[in-house]
Amino acid sequence: MKAMILKGVCSLQENRTPLERVEWPDPRPGEGEILLRVSACGVCHTELDEIEGRTPPPRFPVVLGHQVVGRVAAMGDQAAAFRIGDRVGVAWIYSACGRCKFCQAGNENLCSDFKATGRDADGGYAQYMTVPEGFAYPIPEVFSDCEAAPLLCAGAIGYRSLRLTGLEDGQNLGLTGFGASAHLVIKMVRHRYPRAQVFVFARNPKERAFAKELGAVWTGDIGEASPEKLDSMIDTTPVWKPVVEALKNLEPGGRLVINAIRKEEVDKDYLLRLDYPAHLWMEKEIKSVANVSRRDVSEFLALAAEMGIKPEVQEFPLEGANEALVELRTRKIRGAKVLRID
Ligand SMILES: [Zn+2]
Ligand SMILES: [Zn+2]
Repeated sequence: MKAMILKGVCSLQENRTPLERVEWPDPRPGEGEILLRVSACGVCHTELDEIEGRTPPPRFPVVLGHQVVGRVAAMGDQAAAFRIGDRVGVAWIYSACGRCKFCQAGNENLCSDFKATGRDADGGYAQYMTVPEGFAYPIPEVFSDCEAAPLLCAGAIGYRSLRLTGLEDGQNLGLTGFGASAHLVIKMVRHRYPRAQVFVFARNPKERAFAKELGAVWTGDIGEASPEKLDSMIDTTPVWKPVVEALKNLEPGGRLVINAIRKEEVDKDYLLRLDYPAHLWMEKEIKSVANVSRRDVSEFLALAAEMGIKPEVQEFPLEGANEALVELRTRKIRGAKVLRID
């Protein structure tokens, strides 16, 4: 099969083609696993974190990609949940132990044996991949393959982030950063909480204009004060300045949810500007989002179908994966980038 592989950690600034296109052996489904013929795979900021070593794969070479849509091409022993040809998706959660207290409670995203697709196991930047069948989800018919792909990460984790804010209708929500996840969050908010107001902080004027189009009541640069205090906020940026700046806009008792697997070190000294009375006192909270559970993925897919969410996507061929990653790195963001795989 054709695959784009990562052979080791490197800096994208120095190496703009970190992935190598290779002919690779087709994977074979093990017990309880299915083999997918991949048709679309989303490109995610987390891939930059893997390539640059902030959340490094445990072994190389590895096939990245955790927003995978494909059709069941074969089944391993004991696999009986799907039939050949079924269209399914795979998300960031590749597997978990199933036995620990977190798994038992449905929080398998917190399992110490959590395995991530495209990091701990080969993912979707290839023509085929295997996955345990319990971690594959039927894709609602309303979506094309490329539309469904970004829903599997940006959408599912956006859904979890929104759940963790505890937002209620009529409240004010802030979003710092306006990439793939945030643009889906704003659509969910408008559907579920029609009286909530969304305030968007983004560096790039194009992102701010896009946020306005999608219904943000106000947009501004990172660091600006919002015209009203915010009950909760979701930060999807890779750096620290937006975290510190966001806290000053929160209402007393407000919560900031950080949706980032790792933060970059470049502006970590910004944290020294944290002013306890202005930023944290009055019972303000900071909470992170870790991974996604299966419940998040399947509930979000159902919600997205019900709402008729159609993510804006920009397609690249499999061989264009490096280009897509570099564009993501340099913030030329409008909607979600997806590899279309033949
Ligand atoms: Zn992702
Ligand atoms: Zn577990």
